[in-house]
Amino acid sequence: MRLHLVAFALASGFLALIALPAHAGGGMLRLDKLLDQAERMVTDTALPIAKENQLGKKLAKETEKENKLHSSKEVQQYVARVGKKVAREAKDTPKGIKYTFKVIDDDETVNAFALPGGHIYVYSGLLKLASDEAELASVLGHEVAHVSQRHIAERLVAGVGLEKLIGIAAGKHQEDLAGLAGQLAGQGAMLSFGREQESDADEHGLPYAVAAGYDPEGFVRLFGKLKKGEGPGFLVFLASHPLPSERIEDAQAQIAKMKDKKGKTNEAAYRKMLEQL
Ligand SMILES: [Zn+2]
Repeated sequence: MRLHLVAFALASGFLALIALPAHAGGGMLRLDKLLDQAERMVTDTALPIAKENQLGKKLAKETEKENKLHSSKEVQQYVARVGKKVAREAKDTPKGIKYTFKVIDDDETVNAFALPGGHIYVYSGLLKLASDEAELASVLGHEVAHVSQRHIAERLVAGVGLEKLIGIAAGKHQEDLAGLAGQLAGQGAMLSFGREQESDADEHGLPYAVAAGYDPEGFVRLFGKLKKGEGPGFLVFLASHPLPSERIEDAQAQIAKMKDKKGKTNEAAYRKMLEQL
């Protein structure tokens, strides 16, 4: 049944692309782009946004049961404000997704993650590693892009299977919910993103942060620190976000092409927020 659905979506995807060559801007259709679009179409058909939201709500509830949110209202509001600014620029987000940003009180974990439906969480360990708002915005942009590009939906459909996902969204298989929430929070590598999705999230996420007015070099600074990092907290980040050096080089190449590179860092405000951690 699932295979038939996928085959149908693939076939209709390819037909739509062949019938509409203007789609590719009049240029040559690139096979990798075509495959990306076909995969996206499969996901859109298999797990529509309403279902993704339903699943996301359940996973967010589970995540907040398993983890302690930071008690400082100022910290929560600060991160939510930066996140909303960045998310507002993610204009390619599918309709129906509403982003939320929350801080988990855990200084030992240097990570951030997104759940289906746009629930984004940052660990206090990552907030402490960053030195300004532009660095935070770069990681939030990256997580927003995992949602806007439907990477999470794709990863879930591929890793868990459609029937089970739909079941969980509908309130069945509750015993699988905690495991799934843990996997998505980066505690397990089974559902970690692939290299391509990581580059794709960087490519889309950095412009979100820059359009929100932030210094693009924030990405290079923060990801440079993440790459150098040692200790178990960093291993969690590396398990859920493969971090080859090309990612930093790619971002630098992307920044070199940007017209406006003079975004803000809001370092003073960021330092003030850190005092609450
Ligand atoms: Zn990522």
